Amino acid sequence: MLLLERDRLTSGTTWHAAGLMATFGSTSQTSTELRRYTWDLYSRLEAETGQATGLKQCGLIELATEPGRLEEYRRTTVFNRHCGVEVHEISPREVAEMWPLAKTDDVLAGFYIPADGRVNPVDVTMALAKGARMRGVTVIEGVPVTGFLRERGTVTGVRTTHGDVEAEYVVNCAGMWARQLGELAGVSIPLQAAEHYYLLTEPIEGVDGSLPVLEDPGSYGYYREEGGGLMLGLFEPVCAPWRVDGIPPDFSFGELPPDWDRMGPYLEKTMSRVPVTEQIGIRKFFCGPESFTPDLLPIVGEAPELRNYFVAAGLNSIGILTGGGIGRTVAQWIIDGTPDVDVTGINIDRLHPYQANPQYRATRTVESLGLVFAAHYPNRPTRTARGARLSPIHARLEAQRACFRDVSGWEGADWYAPPGVDPDPGELSWGRPHWFDYWAAEHHATRNGVILMDMSFMAKFGVQGRDAGRELERISANQVAAEPGRITYTQWLNERGTLEADLTVTKLDDEQFFVVASDTAHRHAETWMRRNFGDSHAFVTDVTSGYAQINVQGPRSRELLAAVTSTDMSNEAFPFRTARYIDVGYARVLCIRITYLGELGYELHIPAEQAVAVYDRLVEAGEPLGLRHAGLKALASLRMEKAYRDYGHDIDNTDSVLEAGLGFAVALDKPGGFIGREAVLAQKAKGPLTRRLVQFLLADPEPLLFHVETVSRNGQVAGYLRSASYGFTLGGAVGLAMIDADEPITQKYLDAAQWTVQIGAESYPATASLRPLYDPSSKRVQL
Ligand SMILES: Cc1cc2nc3c(=O)[nH]c(=O)nc-3n(C[C@H](O)[C@H](O)[C@H](O)COP(=O)(O)OP(=O)(O)OC[C@H]3O[C@@H](n4cnc5c(N)ncnc54)[C@H](O)[C@@H]3O)c2cc1C
Repeated sequence: MLLLERDRLTSGTTWHAAGLMATFGSTSQTSTELRRYTWDLYSRLEAETGQATGLKQCGLIELATEPGRLEEYRRTTVFNRHCGVEVHEISPREVAEMWPLAKTDDVLAGFYIPADGRVNPVDVTMALAKGARMRGVTVIEGVPVTGFLRERGTVTGVRTTHGDVEAEYVVNCAGMWARQLGELAGVSIPLQAAEHYYLLTEPIEGVDGSLPVLEDPGSYGYYREEGGGLMLGLFEPVCAPWRVDGIPPDFSFGELPPDWDRMGPYLEKTMSRVPVTEQIGIRKFFCGPESFTPDLLPIVGEAPELRNYFVAAGLNSIGILTGGGIGRTVAQWIIDGTPDVDVTGINIDRLHPYQANPQYRATRTVESLGLVFAAHYPNRPTRTARGARLSPIHARLEAQRACFRDVSGWEGADWYAPPGVDPDPGELSWGRPHWFDYWAAEHHATRNGVILMDMSFMAKFGVQGRDAGRELERISANQVAAEPGRITYTQWLNERGTLEADLTVTKLDDEQFFVVASDTAHRHAETWMRRNFGDSHAFVTDVTSGYAQINVQGPRSRELLAAVTSTDMSNEAFPFRTARYIDVGYARVLCIRITYLGELGYELHIPAEQAVAVYDRLVEAGEPLGLRHAGLKALASLRMEKAYRDYGHDIDNTDSVLEAGLGFAVALDKPGGFIGREAVLAQKAKGPLTRRLVQFLLADPEPLLFHVETVSRNGQVAGYLRSASYGFTLGGAVGLAMIDADEPITQKYLDAAQWTVQIGAESYPATASLRPLYDPSSKRVQL
């Protein structure tokens, strides 16, 4: 194994990192695991290599000074404890005792993590390099990679200033240069450097290395000891991208001139938390670049554009405290072929090439660094780089007062305001939003009448060719290529039997198929097909931009469609799972009878240039039927009542299809089998499952559930809600959790226990169910 470094190790961003090591604060299991593994690795390094790391377990205190943040930290505390992090809520007085220099009069609470602390990033890097060398890795400094060798879609090596090097795998971990380096291989890595600041004071009496790290996001700052004085680090809410045009290739151990004018007001606020810093001398005001990504999550994994080309970059100011875990994940992924942690949120293939455009990076990065210390309310809208992708009927939805949110870059209608009401998301809060009742009305209209929902952001692919059916059968766990004019819900599995995708395949005719996946799975699904189809006569075309998708759903949806088409829409002529071209005005529309909301319903795939006309026709014909527009909030509440899964939210690449409760969609006996079949059989042979996805409904109609609330069985934590919403028909908040048990999980097992869901300090009784609580026998879908 070879590590090539352009200049000297740490010469990019690492040399000036503050070295904070926080395991608290993430509501992602993967991120928390990456942090914990990193801690564990760094704490072993000195003994293993003899190289000091500067690791100090001095503890970390996180301050909550606003009610919303207090609520957030209380909820996060419960989840983080479940992930193995020791967290104590402490009073302002206890904060003052542990951190006498801090002003605490406005502090609501502190959250103390005794095992957190800090390291010296340069020493850690040297220890990692030494450990790697001891295990046979060659580390060469002063040799930049200048290009890549490739053969038939696979990377085969790198070009360097000293000649070519063959390699079976290449990992681009070039920090803020990763995007430019990726371009040389045709790989899009949309990250961008931004200015990042800290300030060092002269020595202060009473400050020494035992002082816990203090973070006060409300003041944009963190504080730790440095040289007997303090380091004050900043995460300002509006930040500044650096060198959108490209990072200079010779930028080493570099500093940027601080922008005092821009930073002045933020700095004042940061200093006011520790008033002594307003009097003491400043030794240094430091500004250095760090790279940020469009969604503040790292860019990890195999590039969709090039096989065996891995990326580990875009670390969003937590590269020291997650670096060890990310390294482990990439190594394991390369060795085993599939990752062993949920990578749906960090996988490079969630991102799109347009996000690497200069305008996108320049615009989005203004927001990203500030989000690190923002209070993480549910429903926080993204403010920057909006309007990047518009549905063909966007203007019509705007006229209907849609409140839009960013859906993989698309403007997705989240909910609709009634006439006279501004479609504004309003104040961020953990309580019921001002649009709660509008959301409820859209939900009920779907259950009782008919709604129209724009889903044009869904990923759509045409799959054609003599082998298209055979190849789709090979990668699909369900039987997808039997009858033409039929849609099939299926999962794609890897050899381990865990989930790669969850989508629908529609057979149009023997050589033509239509594959629809969710927006977040767009590139993953496409890459999975391309890589698995190999040289066969099966060809994938991304037709997402060519079709608008309008879903017409609800018990009166048949009436509505019958009013706009001459096609016979009766249940006999057009049963559930039928796909057929229908006429609507001048348009030929692919109409598929399927639902993700749990009612009679249809998906209309309309040529983009005819979408407005079809939409107008639907709205006109829908008026006498009471047609409503419904948004993505309604989609979430409706599908959650029906316990329909959402890949990347409640199911992911670590779940087997059986654990996910999707065994009904697996055609184990279909001719020719499918990828992952042996793993499914092996799991079946082991007997009843002790890990299963379970639906939970709170008995109390008041509380709201969002994500990661823990679920307990007879007082013992058994899992956490991977996603949740409000069930307006069921009459309470509802969510899905993966439950682990030491005995088979059956409905009897669930019924025999008291189940509760923990929201911050409160615990709420809940019903647990393996079958969907709404319409378990799917009668309404078949109407
Ligand atoms: C002010 C500040 C404070 C921070 N504080 C913290 C903190 O407290 N905790 C924390 O976890 N994180 C912190 N960070 C973030 C952390 O420093 C980064 O996330 C981390 O250093 C990124 O590591 P990296 O290896 O991805 O990038 P880098 O350290 O930049 O490493 C990339 C390397 O790739 C090399 N390279 C580039 N191009 C080529 C090429 N063509 N060929 C060969 N080599 C190449 C570069 O020379 C460089 O050495 C902070 C960042 C800043 C700016």
